[in-house]
Amino acid sequence: MHKHHSALGLATASTGNVTVAEIAERRPVQPVTLLRPHAARRAARFFVEKFPGRSMYAVKANPSADLLEILWDSGVTHYDVASIAEVRLVARTLPQATLCFMHPVKAEEAIEEAYFTHGVRTFSLDTMDELRKIQRATGDASDLNLLVRLRVSSDHSKLSLASKFGAEPGETRELLFAARQAADAMGICFHVGSQAMTPAAYSEAMERVRAAIVDAAVTVDIVDVGGGFPSVYPGMEPPPLETYFETIHKAFESLPISYSAELWCEPGRALCAEYASVLVRVEKRRGDELYINDGAYGALFDAAHVGWRFPVKLVREPASDAKDIAFSFYGPTCDDLDHMAGPFLLPADVGPGDYVEIGMLGAYGCAMRTGFNGFGSDLREIVGDQPMETMYATAAERAVPSNVVTL
Ligand SMILES: *Cc1c(COP(=O)(O)O)cnc(C)c1O
Repeated sequence: MHKHHSALGLATASTGNVTVAEIAERRPVQPVTLLRPHAARRAARFFVEKFPGRSMYAVKANPSADLLEILWDSGVTHYDVASIAEVRLVARTLPQATLCFMHPVKAEEAIEEAYFTHGVRTFSLDTMDELRKIQRATGDASDLNLLVRLRVSSDHSKLSLASKFGAEPGETRELLFAARQAADAMGICFHVGSQAMTPAAYSEAMERVRAAIVDAAVTVDIVDVGGGFPSVYPGMEPPPLETYFETIHKAFESLPISYSAELWCEPGRALCAEYASVLVRVEKRRGDELYINDGAYGALFDAAHVGWRFPVKLVREPASDAKDIAFSFYGPTCDDLDHMAGPFLLPADVGPGDYVEIGMLGAYGCAMRTGFNGFGSDLREIVGDQPMETMYATAAERAVPSNVVTL
């Protein structure tokens, strides 16, 4: 069993209830992606059951087909796609899913294929040019759901999405008016930035929505509050997601819209951060710097380029009793950019040959990988362990001492 999994260097995914410690015992030479389907299911069910509207998954956070199937099986029926490749991927993987093309700048050919070949009816836009493009590409279709993207602040978020997209207050009246004329259902959407650390991000954005509706005096059928729902990382402990949902619901209820208007959201990170982690090997230690076998060109782009801190754990039997100290990481490629400053807290005696689990890489980790410089691997294993952090533990689960899920 051991040999079958690690020695060949092939992509294999076991289905049994393996633990992270058991995988480390096999001493894999390449980094191994550790998948936790149970964690993705739990996150999806949470949104499906508790968000006071429709939750659609933002595919860019992690486009793996396995994850798409898990989310579908857990009740997620709508998918936010941003490119024609994402449209094709979801259409192929989940033929029954409803796709919403939520990138405000699309190629005309992409809109045409999405509409005519894949049945996409929902599109976002933030300019009159894009609206005309959508009308041309769909042959002036009369069955479109058109969502006007407003520019809102990213002040409460760890990753800004405020500069690139969204109509300014001076532009929204004309856009909402024209979209209303062209659309079957017309909506407003925004994105508060990724990893929004307070529900106030949404209530403030909803004030922008209110002002735009009042100013244009149009009937709005859909309000889409976008993504931005947070996960837990070292130094980032957001309030419970229920408080976000309550804030959004209250703001939505007080908007000047019809009773039949729909509330949508587009979580990416929150649905998949807990789904995957990566088991890496330490190849060298130089003082408080560890040279590991995954990095900036692998699953650790955000750790290198925006200083994101991920939870880390030394996977060693018996456990080290040395006290934790702060380390930084170098990835495997040959350039200085492949550096993750951390700090990552690990036992002071960690060294070459040790295995370290880096957690919460299911969102914007696995999705960012490249094979640059000949590094990177497709080794994958399904594990039964709980995720290293969670937004979704119930009080009862928090009371259970074991770290292993009963599948
Ligand atoms: C990236 C993105 C999302 C997902 O954002 P998260 O912060 O991961 O929840 C949702 N909608 C749009 C339009 C996006 O660009």
